[in-house]
Amino acid sequence: MWYPDPVLKRRAEPVAAIDEGIRALIDDMFAVMREEEGLGLAAPQVGRSLRIFVTEEHEQFPARAYINPRLITADGPVAVRDEGCLSLPGIRVGVRRPSHVRIEATGLDGERFELEDSGLMGRCWLHEHDHLEGRLITDWMSPIDRLAARRALRDLEAAFEEDR
Ligand code: ZN
Repeated sequence: MWYPDPVLKRRAEPVAAIDEGIRALIDDMFAVMREEEGLGLAAPQVGRSLRIFVTEEHEQFPARAYINPRLITADGPVAVRDEGCLSLPGIRVGVRRPSHVRIEATGLDGERFELEDSGLMGRCWLHEHDHLEGRLITDWMSPIDRLAARRALRDLEAAFEEDR
């Protein structure tokens, strides 16, 4: 799903049980993320308003599914780094985020786990968690970012209208 599809702006619903349907959805999410060579992907990006995201293997972190994730803390010095999003092709936004993140979630095995990171993976958790809250990198744009991305956003809006 691409901007401005309304599924991307909705707050996603918790997952009640990890059944066959959820496992199949997560398989699809991994496939899409790898096809697009992204670091992470959230369920609303494949049209499902559910609190799930997946991340690719990176440094000490294996590829993983996060079901009903909860941010425990997001603190430390704020850093600005350019982020892209598979739902907003061609757009990069400098996003200010806290640099230290602790998160907990349920894995595919049904067990709760907790992780922390002060690097790119922590930033990725915040980006993917934003998707579950209905927030996109467009919500972090400055007026100058918006001006710079005006044409790309207009093209995406036109494509969305055409597909309806
Ligand atoms: Zn994204």
